[in-house]
Amino acid sequence: MPPNWVKDALAARGVTLESIADIVLKLQKPYNDKLAHEDCLKSVESVLEKREVQYVLITGIALDLLAEKKQLPEPLQSIMETDEPLYGVDETLAMGITHVYGMIGFTSFGYLDKVKPGIIHTLNYESKGIHVFLDDLVAGLAAAASARIAHQNPDARQYGSA
Ligand code: MG
Repeated sequence: MPPNWVKDALAARGVTLESIADIVLKLQKPYNDKLAHEDCLKSVESVLEKREVQYVLITGIALDLLAEKKQLPEPLQSIMETDEPLYGVDETLAMGITHVYGMIGFTSFGYLDKVKPGIIHTLNYESKGIHVFLDDLVAGLAAAASARIAHQNPDARQYGSA
């Protein structure tokens, strides 16, 4: 199990592990029809047990929080407030999560970044506050948990996400 502070940090920003598992299930169900939500939740928990993943998470969430408090130096404060599309550091940081499970993680991350399903959509378009980093971190977590399942299911013919 991941430490409580990791779950608490996500929950405080409106993200449950179940909502991440929802995305993992959508990604992997086409390749594994026996896959259950509980398997996906376990995979998310397993990814969150890795210390490097935990550190990426708290770093990104801290930047979102500092931006909400208007405590970042310019021009970063303005970039965060407008969610400047060319900033790209949010995606770069989130790839620090996906790389743990190789190329399948990267392709799923790119897909999630484009389609923005579930909680990623909520963070982007419906949630108050600044979630420049968190939407990508959640996509990274879902992609990594999904890739982890793919690697455990080597008989499936295809692992792509689109
Ligand atoms: Mg972002």
